Amino acid sequence: MAPIKLVAGNWKMNGSLSGARLLAEEIAAKSAPTARRRVAVCPPFPLLSSVGAFLKGSGVLLGAQDCHAHEKGAHTGDVSAKLLSEVGCRIVIVGHSERRTDHRETDDMVRAKAEAALAAGLDPIVCVGETEAERDAGRTKDVVERQVPASWPKGGTVERCVIAYEPVWAIGTGKTPTVGDVAEVHSHIRSVVAKLGVAAENLAILYGGSVKGSNAPELMAVPGVDGALVGGASLDAADFLKIVNACQ
Ligand code: PEP
Repeated sequence: MAPIKLVAGNWKMNGSLSGARLLAEEIAAKSAPTARRRVAVCPPFPLLSSVGAFLKGSGVLLGAQDCHAHEKGAHTGDVSAKLLSEVGCRIVIVGHSERRTDHRETDDMVRAKAEAALAAGLDPIVCVGETEAERDAGRTKDVVERQVPASWPKGGTVERCVIAYEPVWAIGTGKTPTVGDVAEVHSHIRSVVAKLGVAAENLAILYGGSVKGSNAPELMAVPGVDGALVGGASLDAADFLKIVNACQ
């Protein structure tokens, strides 16, 4: 059975309550769920409850951009996976490169977050990907070979977990790897996951990094690409919907 595809919009630290309503309602109205593809939007924390209400009944999933590894406690500014689940989230991004860089998140921290997500009933999107320097040094495969097993949650299954391959140098830059490179890295990630003893052939591996409506048909057709994690283009409903429609 082929993996269920996913197109997830990462709104990052963007948007306003009024803008979120327009964006979410348009996406909700125009991205009918299918048996083979899910759609999610991941707004900033303060907008989660409102966006959840705007999406209600549409089948578009609510996601968060991060969670803490602990269920509660003295962690000022952090949010638990349990609370995200309570406000209606079904999905959470963990290990995004901006968090790995800005908040010095390690693979161990990412794995703990993914485990907390699973325990709270959320499906984690675990992000991996090489920096430009690592790519230039020919170390892309080494990087994902380290990140994937170290970030994969204990007890994680392909039904609940998703991996997003996001080359750091492609995020927000307008640059993308060649389709050949994307296919090669996705295939490598799948082989690394298979060694963890999970049914890797059924795992959804998303591509992320400067996906737009214009390049989505080409990128979403790459063998082994099971959807997209979308940053900038997810803030424009029409562009995001083109990506959704390219992923069938
Ligand atoms: C991202 O931040 O996950 C991302 C892929 O961003 P962009 O689409 O803007 O490159």
